[in-house]
Amino acid sequence: GSGLSVADVMRTLMGMGMMVNINADIDFETAELLATEHDLDIELKAAESLEQELITEIEEIEDKPETLIARPPVVTFLGHVDHGKTSLLDHLVGINVVKGEAGGITQHIRAYKIDNNGHPVTFVDTPGHEAFTEMRARGANVTDIAVLVVAADDGIMPQTEEAISHAKAAEVPIVVALNKIDLEGVDANRVMTQLTEHQLTPSEWGGDVEIVRTSATQGIGMEELLETLLTIAELNEYSANPDRSALGVCLESEQQGDRGVVAKMIVQNGTLRVGDILVCGPAHGRVRAMQDTLTGKPILEAGPSTPVSLMGLDTPPGAGDRFHVLKDISQAREIASAREGESSRQSLSGITTKVSFDSFQEMLEGGKLGTSADTVKLNLIIRADARGSLEAIDKELSKFDHPEVQIRVLQRSVGGITLADATLASASDAVILGFNVIPDEKARSLADERGVEIRRYDVIYKLTDDIRALIEGRLKPEE
Ligand code: GDP
Repeated sequence: GSGLSVADVMRTLMGMGMMVNINADIDFETAELLATEHDLDIELKAAESLEQELITEIEEIEDKPETLIARPPVVTFLGHVDHGKTSLLDHLVGINVVKGEAGGITQHIRAYKIDNNGHPVTFVDTPGHEAFTEMRARGANVTDIAVLVVAADDGIMPQTEEAISHAKAAEVPIVVALNKIDLEGVDANRVMTQLTEHQLTPSEWGGDVEIVRTSATQGIGMEELLETLLTIAELNEYSANPDRSALGVCLESEQQGDRGVVAKMIVQNGTLRVGDILVCGPAHGRVRAMQDTLTGKPILEAGPSTPVSLMGLDTPPGAGDRFHVLKDISQAREIASAREGESSRQSLSGITTKVSFDSFQEMLEGGKLGTSADTVKLNLIIRADARGSLEAIDKELSKFDHPEVQIRVLQRSVGGITLADATLASASDAVILGFNVIPDEKARSLADERGVEIRRYDVIYKLTDDIRALIEGRLKPEE
């Protein structure tokens, strides 16, 4: 979450006439005062208070440039169902899950690191882009590169469009795997035209998106895909410091009879070792054993970008919960129990967003007072009843020109407002605009829970009027 920094807290406390040092405990009343001072919601921030400070401190230990070495890129597959995500991953890592899975539907988050002749790559496959974005909403940016899988026979489908929006919102490089290229009569040009229409212009057409023609079933294009990923990794110089204590993210976890809690983790920085003391969401413990996620072989340590199955936690952490290594088991226990006390809502607390037209207006007004020439981004997700409506809205939006406001449409698509939209909005601080459409039940409840604003319109001029009023700082509060 976007908690306070230690420095902020100290400054405020000193401003209140309290002399404190970093290790001092503060009571709840003080915390409340602090929260008021910083305009924070104390309910949400209580569990994030000092424990969170400790974690923030760990995370903010800066790695000196000379400690950094290249780490494998973490690659996530996204795409429409049945376009071949699972098959591609299977082929790349040399297993066959597709055959084994009921209905061919990917049920779990899979994560594997392959050696690739000394140029390792880590793959993460989530059941859908929602899971991808949900992790991001929790502050767990595990992905470096997104591979958008598009079947050459189907082309861009609704879920492909959503996947594009989610990948773009995550601001990671996108590589397209134009899959099923082996099928008779497929037209790659048609799909490339579609991609271009979605602002993914193929490099062979002068754009900046690499398109790799693949066949997961025939093993075509695999080398090229790997090479493309490694080239992007090289350009971006993904690096980490293997000599610090580990931090990373839980991808999924479960209670497994005699093995106890098994958590699939990915190490993002540092090196995780058997024997380390860990806190992860509401869970804590000492790492009893770790296994390679692909071979199941026991491993004693795992460096940056390495996924592991880990045993030793007392309770299963949630997907997207971050883990940290601490020195002291009692400290770990304390933090974990403080979090657990916050109930199930707590696991979501860090990601409660409060982006609304009102708060945006405040931001804008705040910005105007300052001297900075920074622009304020207004992120929108637009859902409408028809293509024509979307086009009309786009056209109207493009007319707005304000030096301090940048309107960014993260997603525009036809259809009702879905859970994926609410997740994306929550992860990206966006407001959802519905034109002649309504949110479904799941979308509505997630939006409520996380304070995502959904505004509905039935005439275009009202929508554009609101945005104009917003930008000009004279938006009336909604009744
Ligand atoms: P996912 O839902 O995106 O994970 O798709 P799957 O990997 O489960 O693939 C869906 C179906 O398409 C399966 O029956 C695969 O065998 C088939 N498939 C996947 N890749 C290819 C390909 O490159 N060529 C052909 N002909 N079929 C493929």
